[in-house]
Amino acid sequence: MTGFDSFLVVDWSASVKRAPARPSKDSIWLGFVQDGTCQTPIYCRTRTEAEARIARIIAGERAAGRRLLAGFDFPFGYPKGVARRITGSDDPLDLWDWLEARITDSETGENNRFDVAEAMNACFDAPGPFWGKTHADRWPGIPYRKAGIRFDEVAEKRACDVASKAASSCFQLCFPPTVGSQMLMGLPMLARLRRQQGVAIWPSDEWQGAPVVLAEIWPGLIEPAVKSAMANDPAAPIRDAVQVTLLARALSRVSAEDLNAMMTDLPVEAQQEAWILGTGHDEMLSDLATDGRPPAPPPLRDDCFAMPAGVDWTPVDDALAALRAGLHPVVRPERCAVPDACGRVLAAPVLAKRANPPTPNSAVDGYGFAYDSLPAGDPVLPLVAGRAAAGVPYDKAVPPGHAIRILTGAAVPVGVDTVILEEDTRQGAGQVAFRAGIKRGANTRKAGEDVDAGAELLPKGRVLTPADLALLAATGIGEVDVFQRLRVAVVSTGDELIEAGGTADLGQIFDANRPMLLAKIREWGMEAIDMGRIADDRTALRAALDDATSRADVILTSGGASAGDEDHVSALLSEAGAMQQWRIALKPGRPLALGLWQGAPVFGLPGNPVAALVCTLIFARPALGLLAGAGWQEPQVFHVPAAFEKSKKPGRREYLRARIRNGRAEVFASEGSGRISGISWAEGLVELPDAAATIRQGDPVRYYPFGSFAL
Ligand code: AMP
Ligand code: MG
Repeated sequence: MTGFDSFLVVDWSASVKRAPARPSKDSIWLGFVQDGTCQTPIYCRTRTEAEARIARIIAGERAAGRRLLAGFDFPFGYPKGVARRITGSDDPLDLWDWLEARITDSETGENNRFDVAEAMNACFDAPGPFWGKTHADRWPGIPYRKAGIRFDEVAEKRACDVASKAASSCFQLCFPPTVGSQMLMGLPMLARLRRQQGVAIWPSDEWQGAPVVLAEIWPGLIEPAVKSAMANDPAAPIRDAVQVTLLARALSRVSAEDLNAMMTDLPVEAQQEAWILGTGHDEMLSDLATDGRPPAPPPLRDDCFAMPAGVDWTPVDDALAALRAGLHPVVRPERCAVPDACGRVLAAPVLAKRANPPTPNSAVDGYGFAYDSLPAGDPVLPLVAGRAAAGVPYDKAVPPGHAIRILTGAAVPVGVDTVILEEDTRQGAGQVAFRAGIKRGANTRKAGEDVDAGAELLPKGRVLTPADLALLAATGIGEVDVFQRLRVAVVSTGDELIEAGGTADLGQIFDANRPMLLAKIREWGMEAIDMGRIADDRTALRAALDDATSRADVILTSGGASAGDEDHVSALLSEAGAMQQWRIALKPGRPLALGLWQGAPVFGLPGNPVAALVCTLIFARPALGLLAGAGWQEPQVFHVPAAFEKSKKPGRREYLRARIRNGRAEVFASEGSGRISGISWAEGLVELPDAAATIRQGDPVRYYPFGSFAL
């Protein structure tokens, strides 16, 4: 097995200048993981300095008895045939020695790489293959541009460049990416390192037992990990430093078994052309580079709850549009077994692993035969011995003019394309008889007629239903990527509140909002976190909010959201500087305080239970769906004749507690916002428009069943 203790990753450079003293990009960077510990990336200003540094690391690791895998980010070989043209041998390492004998390099970086490349080009008949130079009028044997080079004597790319989708070519000497120049200035260094005791080159040397193995690597394999690390680090680190560190970390985390497979399962091209370690394993390496954990989503912006300026009462639709624009998912993906995934939100689209049905099969119990072999008139077909049953296929061909007993769900055997229903036949003496007139293909299901293999079964953002689990399982999916459950903390505020079940003093009321809100959150498949009741006390509320942000992604409070003396939720959010007091033109509801507390969105709902429920359904639900990764979901509306009469003034939208009886929408007898019995009586809400309206019996009204406010 291939076990290594330390991993070095080198980002090489073909620079002709000494790099600045201050660490910068486009110089040489070394990423190093020693015995599982990630070291600070090492910056080298010149190749000479880097070579000495690498040699010291090799010597140090050997002395400490640690086996070292050192990766270099330039090709160890050229496309098939190049080495032979130049050295007369197919061994890429002979070309290393050839280069080492010719390339000169200086302390500060001046070198003769174009002269050597020109000499290499002279070994080929047509122009090239090396191209690109710093001076259009020097080195006549090197074309300035690639156009005109035919790459018919040798291919432009190696098999592994194609396999790993690397865009660069080892013949390009100038204009980034200057991989060609990096090779010319790197291979002689490798040829020298190779002469050190215990150093072997992968895959050309006998490397299996060597204490130090030098291998070709390419940071492009872990580009997704590099990109997300760069995006999530506000300090804007140097990309090359991030690349080498992440790749060394990824390699150090590959299991010995997987690394062994990566290093030994190679195509034949690797012998002459060398190979990029990890080709074909980019996803695994990327995952390992990022802790195996997908990157955290970016934080919400401070102004995510900003409302249009200068508006006094915000219409409901504008408030919803602002929420939709300001929020985005705040949860990470994770793997989940399909049987446990009901109610979870897909973090990536799911493709069918297998078609459904996987093979043509019978839709009924009956007899199968080839349609084209039916005689004229009413058929009487001899039956073959045996039968086709679900899970027990008939593994021979059914001869033309014969029939076979076949059961529902059985794979249709070779020689059969049509099935007659058992009830439409008569059997006896080893034969089956039926009336003429059956259609070709009758009673069979085609392979993939339901779902094709590879088809998108369900999109990202889908909230999985029990039927979705059947679809996933039927097409061979055992696990899916879902978002972690959104964690929602619920806090009730108010001096007057006590817990139901206790004894209330004069002036005290039982906390009705908390059980309702916690249950709603669970109903939406989110994790409800009960933060209890908090008195109208700013210090206590501040502590509760702090506590909630450490345990939850979102906070729902009820009460204290207006602008009065005891409205501490809005006061604290204002203090935190990221608060918006939304005055929404809505009945019941109105005061809604929205803000960020240490980056967590807070929905400050009104205390009144009727208003708290309506605001939760109308505003919090779609917002939470968005935060949870399910996208913005509009509730399904039904247009239903009214079983009531009402006139309303213009200026605000109204929601009435309602239910459907005999196909008509009835509304609760009282619109009083203190009437909790009304939300319990209701099965949905009737929505009356922002404008003035007069509703008469039988007029169509907009009705949302409570079930519409689901995820
Ligand atoms: P507030 O928004 O704090 O001014 O409260 C508005 C009304 O709702 C007051 O009558 C409160 O007593 C009542 N209220 C606040 N919170 C709750 C709760 N958790 N359960 C029941 N009623 C509440
Ligand atoms: Mg209060």
